[in-house]
Amino acid sequence: MIEFQQVNKWYGKYHALVDVTETIARGEVLVVCGPSGSGKSTLIRTINRLEEIQSGHILLDGKDIHGPGVDVNALRSGIGFVFQQFNLFPHLSVLENCTLAPVHLGRLTVAEAREKALALLDRVGLAGKANVHPAQLSGGQQQRVAIARALVMNPPLMLFDEPTSALDPEMVGEVLLVMRDLARDGMTMVCVTHEMGFAREVADRVLFMDHGKVLERGTPDDFFNRPQHPRAQKFLSDIRTPFS
Ligand code: ADP
Repeated sequence: MIEFQQVNKWYGKYHALVDVTETIARGEVLVVCGPSGSGKSTLIRTINRLEEIQSGHILLDGKDIHGPGVDVNALRSGIGFVFQQFNLFPHLSVLENCTLAPVHLGRLTVAEAREKALALLDRVGLAGKANVHPAQLSGGQQQRVAIARALVMNPPLMLFDEPTSALDPEMVGEVLLVMRDLARDGMTMVCVTHEMGFAREVADRVLFMDHGKVLERGTPDDFFNRPQHPRAQKFLSDIRTPFS
């Protein structure tokens, strides 16, 4: 579904993605991990062109999405993106947050969008919160709204960029469970996350990045139990807390 071919990106002189070549299959759940500043967020943001690349190609269903003539708005409207910060509109109700894009883009009528949004809010456990404003919700609830909002557009692909990093610890689980259910339903997902328990349980494959390079890729079993690259071995030993 997604093919990175020798992708390079620089921020000024800083080489943020180095010759990334990867294939992500339809229905696959990929977790991207690695130390802070290794290029994980940059990598995921190139898939919906929130970041431009300087060389190489990224194909989505065979189409070069960084090529000339690509309608970036159309591209983005077909890819669900969940950020660390939930980015909900504070002046709109939960339901209005979810219906805004499909109605604005002419994909659904108001009635259709409401029906779909209510079903998705139910799916993320927030059926009773449709008419409140984001400020009345906890962080975990807001992030679940953000996931429902992304799903209203029926995206074939969902990108998650550290979706639980801004949450208080007790709210992380509820968001991860929604993500797990989405994965079980067959959604193609690329997730940047530090939640290694989620990676172990839910990922089909783990990518490990450092200094803009993908150094290791493999099943969670291989990655966590038999990491090959010394940097991956060090990363895994560093994230083990001294108290466990
Ligand atoms: P990660 O998600 O793994 O923490 P990022 O992709 O956010 O890493 O960042 C990779 C590197 O690129 C970091 O060194 C970061 O400082 C740098 N970087 C990220 N965004 C920008 C930017 N907009 N301008 C300049 N440098 C950036």
